[in-house]
Amino acid sequence: MPQKTRKHRTNVQIACPGSGARQTGQNIQKTVACYINVQTKFIFVTGGVMSGLGKGVTTSSIAKLLQLADQKVSCVKIDPYLNYDAGTMNPVTHGEVFVTEDGGECDMDIGNYERFLNQNIPKSHNITTAQVYSSVIDAERKGKYLGACVQIIPHVTDEIKGRILQIAKDEDLDFLIVECGGTVGDIESLPFLEALRQMRVESGPQGVIFVHVTLAPSLDVVGEQKTKPTQHSVQELRRIGIQPDFLAVRCTAPLHEKTREKIGMFTNVSATDVLSCHDTGSIFEVPQMLYDQGIMDAMFTKFHKVGMVNASANWDRWNRITRDISNHEDKKTRIAMVGKYVTLADSYVSVNQALRHAGAHAKRSVEIDWIDSDSVADCSMLSKYDGILVPGGFGTRGAEGIIKAADYARQKNIPYLGICFGFQLAAVSFGRSVLNLGDANTSEISKETKNPVVDLLPEQKEVSEMGGSLRLGANEIIIRDGTVASGIYGAGTIKKRHRHRYEINKEYIGEFEKGGMVFSAESDGGKRMEVLEIPSHKFYLGVQFHPEFNSRPGFPEEVFAAFVSAT
Ligand code: GLN
Repeated sequence: MPQKTRKHRTNVQIACPGSGARQTGQNIQKTVACYINVQTKFIFVTGGVMSGLGKGVTTSSIAKLLQLADQKVSCVKIDPYLNYDAGTMNPVTHGEVFVTEDGGECDMDIGNYERFLNQNIPKSHNITTAQVYSSVIDAERKGKYLGACVQIIPHVTDEIKGRILQIAKDEDLDFLIVECGGTVGDIESLPFLEALRQMRVESGPQGVIFVHVTLAPSLDVVGEQKTKPTQHSVQELRRIGIQPDFLAVRCTAPLHEKTREKIGMFTNVSATDVLSCHDTGSIFEVPQMLYDQGIMDAMFTKFHKVGMVNASANWDRWNRITRDISNHEDKKTRIAMVGKYVTLADSYVSVNQALRHAGAHAKRSVEIDWIDSDSVADCSMLSKYDGILVPGGFGTRGAEGIIKAADYARQKNIPYLGICFGFQLAAVSFGRSVLNLGDANTSEISKETKNPVVDLLPEQKEVSEMGGSLRLGANEIIIRDGTVASGIYGAGTIKKRHRHRYEINKEYIGEFEKGGMVFSAESDGGKRMEVLEIPSHKFYLGVQFHPEFNSRPGFPEEVFAAFVSAT
């Protein structure tokens, strides 16, 4: 029987003067007296040397291991940039904007957490500098600091701690893993690292541990693993008062024993807590890799959590999922992903992952070629693919290429899945070439078109702000019985995540349906169309929502599963 020991609880207590939104209406006397008591243990993950080392995967993997041990766990991502959220950021430089159930436009790491843990993560788990400062400034303007000089320490750091502790308390977590974005040494992450440092002091080493992710590059042919970048990075961390408990060292081949010992010696970390994070076929193998190096025992010892649980049934389930994700080389499906943000694979990370989940389910390996929609002039390049997928996108550039691809898939009976922009432009292509509405377009691309088959959401007409102002998050959708969509989702109500400003113009629906395109799902009391399909086609489906955000390893999202099976 799994048993949880609560013997050595951490009782972190912290005053939360700002704790911004949550404390509104209370005066300073009250808020100073407000302490957050939690029994949660915290694991703080920091990054060194350079970005892109896989802090998100390390964070998710540690969380997964704890979840497999029957612990109640969640993750938080700190993004020290000044954007309020990721919504206004270019996916080509920053990666996908991940949309949460509650409508947050978040860093793509939140998607990693959701996929590893198979649980929804609320938007409050993505903390940015802008959110923290907004709360503090708001509290100051409301006079909540009662004449105090408002400073980064303690006011900003208290706000950061308050937000982390509030999550731990509200969700009654056993463990909260907090990943601090950026690289140690960055100016903008300093207040966050200072807040995490303080939490360690306040809770003691049994309440907080630090994991630092670094790199051991191999420069020569004999593959000597260099330790200096790790040494310097840990020095930088110690300079600001943080001594890591574990090092997760990225390397191409497993860390040599000698390297492990050398790193341990020069970083004050026990060599057994220097963990090799070498390249693997799939990110889902990382939890096993860390487990095999004894991270769980070591962590539980540090936390004074004795009586580790035996959760072999959880492991069996997880192992089956990770095995299935691995390639099924004997059966391949080739997908052309025609989109605008193809120079960075991370721009569509959830779509890529959802295709892999669906492939694993269909026992096929899915090979994805990203095709820049700007370069689609002659569609014959698409003839070699088993399926064409058009993901989300914004703006004019590359739209005509997408419209051509949607046309080509329809004419050549190639399975097509259009997501959001891919749904809207499939309707545009149908309007132009089947309904002969010469200049049919979305008003996002042409304000002058005489046939705006896709038009601005009426409630967006007055909206001028860009940030957080799209139709966001999970909404109910009603699927019409007897349609392709009902074959996929079943007739009735489903809930899916959205991120859009434009929609199908209902004035054209009669014409579309006469021409053979069916709108098979709707939302908001029939106000907006959510799914389009061509029943006579092998598989031609567009969805206004974003199914990719609901796909998890072992639990492929239904429309992705149907699309891959149809190829
Ligand atoms: N640009 C389109 C809209 O705002 C599609 C958005 C998307 O693909 N996420 O409606």
